[in-house]
Amino acid sequence: MKIGIMGGTFDPIHIGHLVAAETVREVLRLDEIWFMPSHIPPHKAEAGFSGDERLQMVELAIQSQPAFRTLDIELRRGGVSYSADTMEILTNQYREHSFHFIIGTDMVNYLPKWERIEELAKMTRFAAVGRAGYKLDKSQLPEDVASAIDDVDMPQLQISSTEIRERLRNGTSARYLVPDSVYEYLQRSGHHGI
Ligand code: ATP
Ligand code: MG
Repeated sequence: MKIGIMGGTFDPIHIGHLVAAETVREVLRLDEIWFMPSHIPPHKAEAGFSGDERLQMVELAIQSQPAFRTLDIELRRGGVSYSADTMEILTNQYREHSFHFIIGTDMVNYLPKWERIEELAKMTRFAAVGRAGYKLDKSQLPEDVASAIDDVDMPQLQISSTEIRERLRNGTSARYLVPDSVYEYLQRSGHHGI
C-alpha cells in the first residue's frame, strides 16, 4: 500500500491538518494516512496539551474517515521524536508499503536541519502542501532531498495550533477551526474559551 505519514504535534489538531491529509491522499492516490503525534519535537520547547490529550483529539478528529489511522509509535517511544528514527522502524516493519511524509511548506526550509535527512529521503518521499505565508523553495536543499519532494496544492487555510491555543487562553472562539468532535472534547475538558 501507499501510506501517507502525517506527523506533527497536533497541539491541538485542526482542520488545516485534516484538509492537508485528505488532499494529499486524493492527489497522490494514497491508500491510508497515518496521523502520528510526536512526543517531543526537536524544534519545539513545550507542548500545551499532554501526549494523551493530543492523541485523543486526533482520534476524535479522524473517526469518520476510514482511510485515516493514528500511530502512537513516537508517543510510546518517548524522548525526542526524530523522523529518521521513526521511518527506519516503519520501513523495516512494513516492507510492503511505500511511504509519503506529509509536510507543510513552513517545514520544507528546515529539512536540511533534520536529523539524518539524507537517509530519511531514501526511506520516504515527502509531500509538501502549500501553507499560507510560506512559499515552496527547494533551492537550498541538497539535490537528493529536493528530488524526493512532491508538491501538492491544497486550499489555503491560515490556521495554526498556536493560534488555537491563544484563542483558548483568551476565551475567543475556535469553533469550526477544529472539527466538532474536538470542539466538544475541549468544552468537556474545561477549555471554555471556545
Ligand atoms: P504549531 O502552531 O503549534 O506549530 P501547527 O498548526 O503548525 O502547530 P503542527 O502539528 O506543527 O501544527 O503541524 C503538523 C504538520 O501540519 C506540519 O507539517 C505543518 O506544516 C502542517 N500544517 C499545519 N497547519 C497547516 C495548515 N493550516 N495548512 C497546511 N499545512 C499545515
Ligand atoms: Mg507547526
